[in-house]
Amino acid sequence: MQFLQSEQLSTLLLKLGVITQKQKEFIEQERSKQRHKLLRQAAKEGIRDKNYPDMVDIISSLKLTIQNSKRAQGRPIDEELIMRAVAKEKKLPFRKLDPLELDMEVATTTVSKNFAILQSVLPLKIENGIMEMAVYNPDCQVVLDDIEKTNQIKITPILATRSDIRRIINEFFGFQRSISAAEDQFSLDKDGDSSLDISNLERFINISNSQEITSSDQHIKRAVNHLFHYALDQRASDIHIEPKRELSLVRFRIDGLLHTIYRLPKAVHSALVSRIKFLARLDIAEKRRPQDGRIKIGAGSTKEVEIRLSTIPVSFGEKVVMRILDSDVMFRNIDEMGFNTRDLKIYKEFMHAPHGIILVTGPTGSGKSTTLYSTLKEIATPEKNVITVEDPVEMVHEEFNQISVQPAIDVTFASILRNILRQDPDIIMIGEIRDEETAAYAVQAAMTGHLVFSTLHTNDAASSVIRLRDLGLQPFLIASTLLGCMAQRLVKTICPACKEQFKVQSEEMARIGFPVQAGEELILSRGKGCENCRGTGYKGRCGIFEVLPLSSTLKEMIATKNSSLDMKKIAIQEGMTTLRQDAWQKVLQGITTWEEVLRVTSQ
Ligand SMILES: [Zn+2]
Repeated sequence: MQFLQSEQLSTLLLKLGVITQKQKEFIEQERSKQRHKLLRQAAKEGIRDKNYPDMVDIISSLKLTIQNSKRAQGRPIDEELIMRAVAKEKKLPFRKLDPLELDMEVATTTVSKNFAILQSVLPLKIENGIMEMAVYNPDCQVVLDDIEKTNQIKITPILATRSDIRRIINEFFGFQRSISAAEDQFSLDKDGDSSLDISNLERFINISNSQEITSSDQHIKRAVNHLFHYALDQRASDIHIEPKRELSLVRFRIDGLLHTIYRLPKAVHSALVSRIKFLARLDIAEKRRPQDGRIKIGAGSTKEVEIRLSTIPVSFGEKVVMRILDSDVMFRNIDEMGFNTRDLKIYKEFMHAPHGIILVTGPTGSGKSTTLYSTLKEIATPEKNVITVEDPVEMVHEEFNQISVQPAIDVTFASILRNILRQDPDIIMIGEIRDEETAAYAVQAAMTGHLVFSTLHTNDAASSVIRLRDLGLQPFLIASTLLGCMAQRLVKTICPACKEQFKVQSEEMARIGFPVQAGEELILSRGKGCENCRGTGYKGRCGIFEVLPLSSTLKEMIATKNSSLDMKKIAIQEGMTTLRQDAWQKVLQGITTWEEVLRVTSQ
């Protein structure tokens, strides 16, 4: 009998201290009942697999947790934990599979999909003439021998969970099959002209329009669906589809870094781009001008994700960049955004003021939109009319009335503002104040009892006040309407799975500006790098803030010719924490690293 099917497995888990004697008895007692339960579920879902359920499935489905270890107390005894134990026993390496690290070509051409599923194996990559193969069953040497023989290559087996192997097989083979089928359909003509002619494409789209699904667009539809789901699964923030001379690259941005995911045959590039443009209701035939659009896709049963895309013609065709706007990221709880206690209190006072202007500042990608959307969502009630003017509307929210600026037809921030004041708004969000006219409307709105949020492109909070003055606003108007300013940035947060502490000399830290006394010993945190964070040591991001409420002293300073530096000095005296200071606090708290602080706050 094979190891994963046998009782030896629970004996092994007991030997390694993963389960207690009592838990082992419980497993033996429940085994047969649980087996039938899992079989019934599988039958209902139409799964037919003669190896299912094995002992790994049975034990992991019992939802036991670790009972006899201080460090790992309460950790679920799941498939991964069990397979790590099996790997130890069988002296095989274990790996949590990262789809970004494997070679799609090798994965999908070495064995067939059916074979891969039936045997729970997945070729990962070939290096120095040796193929790495993920296997679930440690006793599958016969199968590996067969593959070695047919492919004339040596194989190194690596143990992995069956769910990892299954998930990647479905993702990769599905995408590969759709792409190959589409490639056959749209394959290069004899002259090697890689672009599809337009008339052909229009026909292709017309077919989709009339809902007659033919095999040709089915493949591309499926490929695009795969692409979106895969991007969401990988927590990608952007998808790039880039035409090159010979092929087309699909790249994902994950935690700030671009990864090449697929190399596609050039022949499918146009079809893929056309399908995406069609979903975004763009003009398919227009390929020489840049276009913008958006797509809404369902992710899971209740969640909707919005994708904003832009196309631009480059040397070898049309390049598409899609930004994934996840509502969980765009609409957050104000309490969980990373404000320190003082800043949170002041910012909430801003939010609940009856009228006035609140400015958020920072460069592109500093999280301003998330702050503003989250703010509006928190204060929007059915009794309040919230209007936003944006360039362009980033994320659609049904409780807001959102208007997009369209400079091409002269619909500007100022022209919209002129009109919306007649729309009886309570709260107005202006995407950005760029000129005197827009600034003047913001002031007028605040003077007539509205709460106005907007952004400016300045480095710190105090500079925003000066910027308003430089735009030509009268100092007394600024003083009577501006409630306060806030600067913000985003720092990467340390991966919780591989976080470790380390000691550092205070002199070293003092040299880079860290507020520390000489001779003090500092204990800071960093990420070692693990499979959860792809070796980067970071996972997710958090805001750092500088909140400046406009005190009466500061109001007086606007009228005199004070610089932003003078104002900043006073603000600090009044208790303001600068971006840097707030960031150092987050380093001390083990949220981020000093390298991140320097990266984000040095100008
Ligand atoms: Zn990690």
